[in-house]
Amino acid sequence: MSPRTFVNSPLARIARLVLGNKGSVAMVLGKTVHLSGATREEFLADPEWVAHEEVHLRQVRDLGLARFLAEYLLESARVGYYQNKFEVEAREGARQFMLERARGLRQP
Ligand SMILES: [Zn+2]
Repeated sequence: MSPRTFVNSPLARIARLVLGNKGSVAMVLGKTVHLSGATREEFLADPEWVAHEEVHLRQVRDLGLARFLAEYLLESARVGYYQNKFEVEAREGARQFMLERARGLRQP
């Protein structure tokens, strides 16, 4: 099942600017993946990216949106974007997904 997306999201655009104007940015707000600089088709065509955002969707489900955002910002301020524990978990989850997919254990 594909996640719900919101393209040309102003909030994702702000995140994109804060992150140094990367080409495209996705951010999870509630149950929706907000995109800036990418279409829904481009996003869904990248299974590793989708798997990464699926981890964030689960993190938001587990913590609730307010707590997730608060902890995410705190982590980012403390250790930066890359070492942020939520990003580490999302990268690792997406890596695992791609490994399992390559082994034929998962459907794309
Ligand atoms: Zn992420």
